[in-house]
Amino acid sequence: MTATTCPGCAHAMEALTLEGHSGAAITIDLCATCHAFWFDTHESLKLSPASTLTLFTRIGDATLGENGGVKATFPAIMSCPRCSSRLVPTHDRQRDTPFHYWRCDHRHGRYITFFDFLREKSFIKTLSATELAELRRHVQMVNCSNCGGPVDLKNASACPHCGSPLSILDMKQAERLVSQLRDAATLRPVDPALRMNLLRARHEVEAAFADGRHSQEWWSDVSSSGLVEAGVAALARWIKSSA
Ligand SMILES: [Zn+2]
Ligand SMILES: [Zn+2]
Ligand SMILES: [Zn+2]
Repeated sequence: MTATTCPGCAHAMEALTLEGHSGAAITIDLCATCHAFWFDTHESLKLSPASTLTLFTRIGDATLGENGGVKATFPAIMSCPRCSSRLVPTHDRQRDTPFHYWRCDHRHGRYITFFDFLREKSFIKTLSATELAELRRHVQMVNCSNCGGPVDLKNASACPHCGSPLSILDMKQAERLVSQLRDAATLRPVDPALRMNLLRARHEVEAAFADGRHSQEWWSDVSSSGLVEAGVAALARWIKSSA
């Protein structure tokens, strides 16, 4: 099979073979440069909890990689990697969270950024007023996790470029995922160390706002990559340390 061409940058995407809900293998394509996935029709719905965790670690890798905090700017016209027709920008909602992607009108699939994928899976929450105040004590400027634009924290609680509210990774959702993983562990048991490490990752993310005992690594990830990215990076570090 030839590699999928990334709609964003026209380079070959990396094919990831993952396990679906039914145990059948599904393939998802990833572009580490554009920070985006291509899902063939409905593949996103078929992801098992274990596969979702795998995508998390891959997002973490790309976030801390050489293109770390740099967001791709997408061309105005992007083509379906399957039929070359123009992809249609689409707005959708998951509970209260709006998210955005590009879909093929001929139902071949869709192209979605890491950030919107996390939004779709309800892994993103808006920063509370207290968290925002704590953030301002440490950092003057962050890059928007949605568009990559700089946000001056002195006067803004939302991105002036794209309007996204300042957001962080919702660690409660990550824990829920691990519970699902445990419930669904019919094929192979869940490593108890993974659950332990997720609790630590949650602590690391939340402690950053709770009691001032945050690590230097955390704040440097926040200011170089962004808030959501720092959360994903913390999570990916812990998931890996239990692998
Ligand atoms: Zn790309
Ligand atoms: Zn198509
Ligand atoms: Zn923005």
